[in-house]
Amino acid sequence: MPFDPISKAPISEMSVMPNLVDRDEAAKGFEWTDMYSELDWLPDGGLNKAYEAIDRHVEHGHGDKVAMIWAGKNGEEEIYTFSEMKAQTNRWANVVTDLGLGRGDRVFIFMDRLPELYFAFFGTLKAGGVVGPLFSAFGPEPVRDRLQDSGASIFLTQPELREKVAGILPECPDIKHIIVVNKDRRSSDDLADSDLSYEELMLDASDDFGIVSTSMYDYSIMHYTSGTTGKPKGAVHRHLAAVQQYATGKWALDLHFDDIYFCTADPGWVTGTSYGMMAPWTNGVTNLIYEGGFSANNWYDTIDKYKVTVWYTAPTAIRMLMRAGEEPVKNHDLSSLRFIASVGEPLNPEAVVWGNEMFNQAIHDNWWQTETGAIMCANYASMEVRPGSMGKPIPGIEMGILDAEYNLLPAGEDGLLAVKPGWPSQFHAYWNNSEMYNSKYKKGWYITGDQAQMDEDGYFWFQGRSDDVINTAGHLVGPFEVESALIEHPDVVEAGVIGVPDDIAMEVVKAFVATRPGVEQTDALRRDIMRFVRTKLSAAVAPRQMEFIESLPKTRSGKIMRRLLKARELGLPEGDISTLEDD
Ligand code: AMP
Repeated sequence: MPFDPISKAPISEMSVMPNLVDRDEAAKGFEWTDMYSELDWLPDGGLNKAYEAIDRHVEHGHGDKVAMIWAGKNGEEEIYTFSEMKAQTNRWANVVTDLGLGRGDRVFIFMDRLPELYFAFFGTLKAGGVVGPLFSAFGPEPVRDRLQDSGASIFLTQPELREKVAGILPECPDIKHIIVVNKDRRSSDDLADSDLSYEELMLDASDDFGIVSTSMYDYSIMHYTSGTTGKPKGAVHRHLAAVQQYATGKWALDLHFDDIYFCTADPGWVTGTSYGMMAPWTNGVTNLIYEGGFSANNWYDTIDKYKVTVWYTAPTAIRMLMRAGEEPVKNHDLSSLRFIASVGEPLNPEAVVWGNEMFNQAIHDNWWQTETGAIMCANYASMEVRPGSMGKPIPGIEMGILDAEYNLLPAGEDGLLAVKPGWPSQFHAYWNNSEMYNSKYKKGWYITGDQAQMDEDGYFWFQGRSDDVINTAGHLVGPFEVESALIEHPDVVEAGVIGVPDDIAMEVVKAFVATRPGVEQTDALRRDIMRFVRTKLSAAVAPRQMEFIESLPKTRSGKIMRRLLKARELGLPEGDISTLEDD
């Protein structure tokens, strides 16, 4: 009889009772170290995410269990067991080790959701490296900024994406090897002279590899995240994050060993690694990777075909599904779905109500961010869902609402959402930016950048960002990044960027642009500028709306007053913003 690798219980005896029944009870006297024993650890006491996600299931006799079902965008399907994942990740670990990757060296991956991405991800961790997956829809500039800042020495990509960023690669001198995955020879292009072929390297590599004994404090994964000022910052996570990713997979996503799990997030964003890889696989769950983008029909087909039981998605996607209506839901058998969760933006109450009608269950909102590395606050399976609330902090997490002086506010008051430091998946640095990292900690709290409220019963309610960062379709966009791209256009002299409300994406990026004297502000120019930015950044980040303006409102020190732009845009009295900081 098969055994659950974690609880060691025979699987047939495992129930689908919620993994977390009473949060307050579970939180009593809880210490994160209590969870340590649920992971396996390395023989000498080290901790490696790849071992916990893959190899240990083989050790526990589940080598033949399906780890990954890959559904390609052209209808292809590939299935990998935990044993096969172990072999593939070992091969990649050998490849990068032979190429000279040392402990802590960075491997950046710029790929679509192909199986090879996942092999390279965990193989890099096995080799002691740090892995940075990049969103494949990025244009050249975000890729350049991240490669330059991280000093990545190995860059793994695929032909059409390599082509997209060919112009910036010479500006990234730290890259020693460019490796190209040409899956099933989808591309007929030859490799550039200096590039290496993934397929050839993997063919020659051994299936055996002795995992580098990383400690729980060693760096493992980097994700860049946008702030109000400057370029995106690389939030660095440690192997220790596995503890919380495993625990929240159980508690907040209610993963059981026999689940079929579908996370719609891309690995270029933190949800795509913490919950697209770590949470399901540390829990030994079969993980469905769907290569295609959003499509109501394809998503429902996929859930129906593979009998998905747990589905983790995002509010923008849910609103798009709502727009697609009831018909596609009716045309599919979605009865396998046992638990649905959502993250990334506020989940509006209508979406929760709609979920109840369509799927006969609530959609469970939860809250976290790149820096927290894992879910912090959740509506979990057994709790009463309050539509519009992001739930309660999970066991081991203390969250508070603070005033402007960072003092705790009572329930019912709006303030800064903060977390008591010391959780296992807490980021440990912004790469090369300790000043910014330190600025996030005030009076013993980590300040999240969000505004929220807590009600009398301890449920948290998101109110908005406390800075100028824009959340469009669940992606954080730093206005500075977009403004910098805009002013590179030869006719633009200055630009200010804000988020404006949108029914589907919550916010979309709107740019205000002042042009060079004498330039005619035509529709053709507007389109040209928007196209220009889209090719530099990505469609996800580029402005959806643009307005010409004579000159931008600025503070005395010359900084653009984005909040004034926003107040004007939203028709708020300008007096309302008179108290805004002059910075
Ligand atoms: P990221 O670091 O890109 O994952 O974005 C994290 C940010 O997304 C948070 O700081 C929030 O502003 C927003 N966010 C994430 N989850 C939620 C949620 N459940 N409700 C409201 N906002 C959320």
